[in-house]
Amino acid sequence: MKQVETRILPQASPGTRRSLNILRYGTPGKRPKAYLQAGLHADEAPGYPVLHHLIKKIDTAEQQGNIFGEIVVVPAANPIGLSQWRDEMLQGRFDFVNSINFNRQHQDLTDRLIDEVGPELGADPQQNIKAIRQCGTGIINNFQPEDEAASLKTLLISLSHDADIVLDLHCDLQALMHIYLGTPLWPDAQDLSSQMGAEATLLAADSGGTPFDEANSRIWWVLAEHFPNVPIPPACLAATVELRGLSDTDPKMIRQDTDNLYYFLQRRGLIGGTPPQLPELINPATPLTGVDYVKAETPGIVVYLKQQGDWIKKDEIIAEIINPLPETEDQRVTMVRSRTEGLLFSRNVDRFARPGRIIAKVAGSEPLSESEGNLLTL
Ligand SMILES: [Zn+2]
Repeated sequence: MKQVETRILPQASPGTRRSLNILRYGTPGKRPKAYLQAGLHADEAPGYPVLHHLIKKIDTAEQQGNIFGEIVVVPAANPIGLSQWRDEMLQGRFDFVNSINFNRQHQDLTDRLIDEVGPELGADPQQNIKAIRQCGTGIINNFQPEDEAASLKTLLISLSHDADIVLDLHCDLQALMHIYLGTPLWPDAQDLSSQMGAEATLLAADSGGTPFDEANSRIWWVLAEHFPNVPIPPACLAATVELRGLSDTDPKMIRQDTDNLYYFLQRRGLIGGTPPQLPELINPATPLTGVDYVKAETPGIVVYLKQQGDWIKKDEIIAEIINPLPETEDQRVTMVRSRTEGLLFSRNVDRFARPGRIIAKVAGSEPLSESEGNLLTL
């Protein structure tokens, strides 16, 4: 039976109340479990209509007795961000209270799990998965979040941390479909990238900042590394799915993305029926360390000379920046080049540059930095 639950967040200021809707399908505790959410960055539009249509399809499957396992859907994951209007723009990426990105600093359970779960682990990988999930539930239940945003983050991770599949729907600025995944999840998760038609799949074991997907998935390989004598599989396929760009709500695309998510859930044994043949993967996965976040070095107006989807050579010019008020003549036009060869998969949505601002992203296969840990944008 479909269950709809409304959870009220603690009051942040007098006279305000925000709530989260949680949709549950199938049998609680049954496997596999999938968790999907949209709008953690509340101003990223495409995820909402995709989940709207997906919910309708899952409703039908549910009525036909076709849900196996458990599916939890949060159609709008960030009611705080959804209220942050300023100057005719919804600004749902950073918390107005403290400027913290809503998709960073999610609760990282790993240290607590390392402290607590050791005695429960043994030779059976399935038992270990169970023990780690149970321990995680206990840790989360003891959290005492201090404000509204922390309460929201705790609530979200409490719904997702024990899932086999976690799909966090986002979008970039102007972009191709792309997906962020933990390196140890590849190539197992290749069916997600193939089915969604992702043109880039970016892998990192620790991208830094604890985004929501990694708060769910990274614990597994960190624990496996910490307890090398017992089998601990990467038991949570968590992905950040970037549904192209901010304005990509074309009905055809929305339908296609909805169908593809549904097929993925079918293929993973959550919904009955046979999905169509898996499409070919468009491009191989590349390391997140290989992404060139192409930055402007001068202020001015960006004129792109390359489109998203273009293949870029190393040192190739992507854009020129025109400074209408230069201090010297050579500052009037500045060329911006890529540091790597790869796919231009994202561009900024407005055309104003200042030194240090990212204006494009190029997915290269060669790492540009030796270490992980600080690989995400602000
Ligand atoms: Zn986002």
